Amino acid sequence: MTAAPASLIRNGRIVTASDDFVADILIEGGRIQAIAKTLSPGPGMAVHEAAGLLVLPGAVDVHTHLDSATPTASTVDDFAAGTRAAAFGGTTTVVDYCTPPPGASLMAGLEDWHRRRANACVDVGAHMIVLNAGAETLAEMKTLVAREGITSFKFFMAYPGALMLEDGALFTALRAAGALGALSCVHAENGPVIQSLVQAALAQGQTAPRHHALTRPALLEGEAAQRAIDLAELAQAPLYVVHLSTAQALRAVQRARLRGLPVFAETCPQYLLLDDSVYEADGFEGAKYVMSPPIRPASHGPQLWNGLRSGDIQTVATDHCAFTYGEGPEGQLGLRHSKRLGLAAFNRIPNGAPGLETRLALMHDAAVLQHGMSLHRFVDLVATAPARLFGLFPRKGTVAVGSDADLVLFDPQERWTVRATEHHSLSDYSLFEGRQITGRVKKVLLRGQCIVDGTQWLGREGLGQYLPRGASGRI
Ligand SMILES: [Zn+2]
Repeated sequence: MTAAPASLIRNGRIVTASDDFVADILIEGGRIQAIAKTLSPGPGMAVHEAAGLLVLPGAVDVHTHLDSATPTASTVDDFAAGTRAAAFGGTTTVVDYCTPPPGASLMAGLEDWHRRRANACVDVGAHMIVLNAGAETLAEMKTLVAREGITSFKFFMAYPGALMLEDGALFTALRAAGALGALSCVHAENGPVIQSLVQAALAQGQTAPRHHALTRPALLEGEAAQRAIDLAELAQAPLYVVHLSTAQALRAVQRARLRGLPVFAETCPQYLLLDDSVYEADGFEGAKYVMSPPIRPASHGPQLWNGLRSGDIQTVATDHCAFTYGEGPEGQLGLRHSKRLGLAAFNRIPNGAPGLETRLALMHDAAVLQHGMSLHRFVDLVATAPARLFGLFPRKGTVAVGSDADLVLFDPQERWTVRATEHHSLSDYSLFEGRQITGRVKKVLLRGQCIVDGTQWLGREGLGQYLPRGASGRI
């Protein structure tokens, strides 16, 4: 693969998790070769004028489900569509969850994932979802860490009979991951109790989308997070609580961190910026917000912001898992990608929503402009901390000599409005439709190659490379 030709970014305000200064950046061989007050372009060198713009590290989204299928539904964004949406939103690295098909080995699941990710437009790594804790699986986990650059695993405490590990298996898997120096990601919701609540609701004829949220109460996330933390402590395993959405789970994480345990947490824009009034919409509209965990009552959001401020939550990812609300023009996308699979009952609505394209701008607007956080903290949340925690730093997640030239030229003042009709996900809706945002991605470089210029797509499918990752779980 040939690297992009040399280029120069001039007069941009470079903002990293620690620095903020105006300088030029020389890019050669896909990497940053020099950063200095003034650099001169060589003959024929592309020059990107960045005066008045922020130059940010390409954002890193460590929670996506692209081209992912369940027995009844499959996500509408494959790697090509999902990573193109990511690029337009300033995200140049995605770490996707690889789900091995039922009964398949982890290695077979990974091979299948590599086939699917081959058309990615930005760089991609994988976390491996572990569905049992048998001897063969544990041996494969070792191989994945040692040979495949997969240094994080995910365990589900929800979805009994499908994805869930019961406590004994969870403990065994945590201990194996800890011994390998890998990071254990956990979906913390008490699956069996949720199942009981779902059955009770359906028995009473409560089938509307809002019952999805009512049958997954906040307490059951707090309980599961605390249980995961206790089991991880006993197993001596660093733990990363994905998509943390409640005050109860946050308190569990805070208590653990006060004791010095290696416990980390991620939240998502939808839990910071929305509340459960979204489920009051007429008819089936609430299905757009059916995801797990659900959007929470309004009291949780401010506490999650406090968690970001205190540093107890280290990352903001999307959990991009996109379905359509309709079925596309003339039904061309079909029912298997659609929320309409659950028209008859909320428990059949595919869980998940799009988000890859809006995370960076949403968080700039919300964290920096509305919540008074520094630009450094914003960059840390969306790029640097995820890169560090998942073994990608300093190749990804910062602007430094020797790092990949993954760069976002960002106008911190441009105002725009989120419209699903203008986004690049194949989903037909946005969780943030109509939201006014200040700050917009103007240009995106992936390893020195300009892949987004305003509304123009200059990238291509297959440009994204696989990222074997180093040790995870340190920050
Ligand atoms: Zn997820």
